[in-house]
Amino acid sequence: MKLTGNLLIGANEVPATEGTMKALNPATNQLIEPDFALGGVADVDRAANLADEAFDQYSHTSLAQRSAFLERIADNLDAVTPELAARAALETGLPEAQLQGEAAKAATQFRQFAAVVRKGRFLQVAIDPAQPDRQPRPRMDHRLQKIAIGPVAIFGASNFPISYSVAGGDTASALAAGATVIVKAHNAHPGASEIQARAIRQAVQDSGLPEGVFSMVRGGGNAIGEALVDHPLIKAVTFTGSEQGGMALYRRAQLRPEPIPVFTEMTSINPTFILPHALATRGEQIGDGFVERMLVNVGQACLKPAILIAIDGSGFEALRAAMAKRVAAAPARPMLTPGIHASYTRGLDDLQNAGAKLVVEGSAANGDVDGQSALLEVDGQHFLTETALAHEVFGPAALLVKVRDEAEMLAVARSLRGQLSATLHLEQSDFELAQRLLPILERRTGRIVVNAFAHPQEVSFATIHGGPFPASSDSRFTSVGMTSIERFLRPVSYQGFPDALLPEALREINPLGVPRSVDGQ
Ligand code: NAP
Repeated sequence: MKLTGNLLIGANEVPATEGTMKALNPATNQLIEPDFALGGVADVDRAANLADEAFDQYSHTSLAQRSAFLERIADNLDAVTPELAARAALETGLPEAQLQGEAAKAATQFRQFAAVVRKGRFLQVAIDPAQPDRQPRPRMDHRLQKIAIGPVAIFGASNFPISYSVAGGDTASALAAGATVIVKAHNAHPGASEIQARAIRQAVQDSGLPEGVFSMVRGGGNAIGEALVDHPLIKAVTFTGSEQGGMALYRRAQLRPEPIPVFTEMTSINPTFILPHALATRGEQIGDGFVERMLVNVGQACLKPAILIAIDGSGFEALRAAMAKRVAAAPARPMLTPGIHASYTRGLDDLQNAGAKLVVEGSAANGDVDGQSALLEVDGQHFLTETALAHEVFGPAALLVKVRDEAEMLAVARSLRGQLSATLHLEQSDFELAQRLLPILERRTGRIVVNAFAHPQEVSFATIHGGPFPASSDSRFTSVGMTSIERFLRPVSYQGFPDALLPEALREINPLGVPRSVDGQ
């Protein structure tokens, strides 16, 4: 596919209105062709108007038509996977084989949502039939279903350039809900973004859907993102990135004349607790697994385990030695952008200024944006007094927290802010301590893992990728998994309707065969 660098606004190819940019290959520090158009407020306005015009038709597509559309996107992604992975590798420095896996995951997500749409359970139909003879007064017929919230703006993530980007789970779940979508492409991978956007746009055209179902814009600086959040026709926003960026957009949306939901996925240190018997029997093995997960994506992963808490003693010494050996052998690899690299270096300094001691560093960096791995350590008492130590450092680093005893381990757990995940490594003889930790962790995390590490690849009905603030701005929802569709749905109740006027899913004979609750049963 020849990249044009244009903004894709509905069916239109829109050249630069606010200058151009080039992608950077972080592995070579070289700019890559071609020029990519940067847009502005007028481009957002055009995309939002098209998304609004398309909304009524798209949100009323039959379940069969919408699920066929999602499957067509998946097929189109499959067809471009080799060039998509190759371009994403150039723009991110991540391994091409891994990016092929990401493309496959993105296609799978669209297929999974196609199945969700076909079955219709997401409509959450509830029917309370009329009870004309009910005393002391009759009950009217009430029927409820969920409908799409309206046009949605999606901020693609930098760190997973396919499965959390233009064709990522946010886009798949929003389109599945019946929402029209405008993606703000991340400037860290403009070519990969264009390939994904073209695959989606082709599916819109082939499915005979209105052009405004999908658009992709791009800009330099905050103006384009702000215009998206401010636009009165946009009814919800999703975001994956920094706490600072996410909260700026969240606050902005609440100051609109009409506030709208902003679903942000921001920051998490994913604490890992090794309980005493697990530490004694297999501490070194757990430490190996921890370092392996910490280095995935050069540590640029929302589920990266960033702190490890264990009780002082000979088991702790052995754990530290095993981890130090692995970290010391880790090669430095290119990080996604110079900005992310700079903030990683700053973050390591901040940890040390806050009192963390450097245990070991990995191989020295060769390139300007290579992230050198690091293992740091602090004792539990100090961790409890320095909040800066509990902040995410996005990159290949982790902090060992050496606690005195079980009470201090519980205190460290209690001190944590909201997390995407927390992990317990335990043996049966650790259950009593685990039972004291669990209520503390349930209040603070979206996912609790036992004897494994949280994995981003699972996309299922029981997956939660969210959690209390600052992991996300709304702990009631997830940004990954089949229930992520709920972010884009709202309930409408139809009271006293003649059957022929009801949406199909609510009609008496249930022509779509969707699951329905009747009188709460
Ligand atoms: P980011 O700086 O938060 O940017 C994410 C997206 O939001 C970009 O498209 C950015 O546009 C836009 N944006 C950010 N702030 C904005 C604002 N105030 N107004 C309008 N638009 C705004 O995240 P990033 O570039 O992906 O990485 C930076 C840092 O974010 C990392 O170092 C890391 O700490 C964190 N991060 C965390 C996760 C996680 O999963 N925990 C994932 C990714 C990043 P522009 O690029 O055009 O400015």
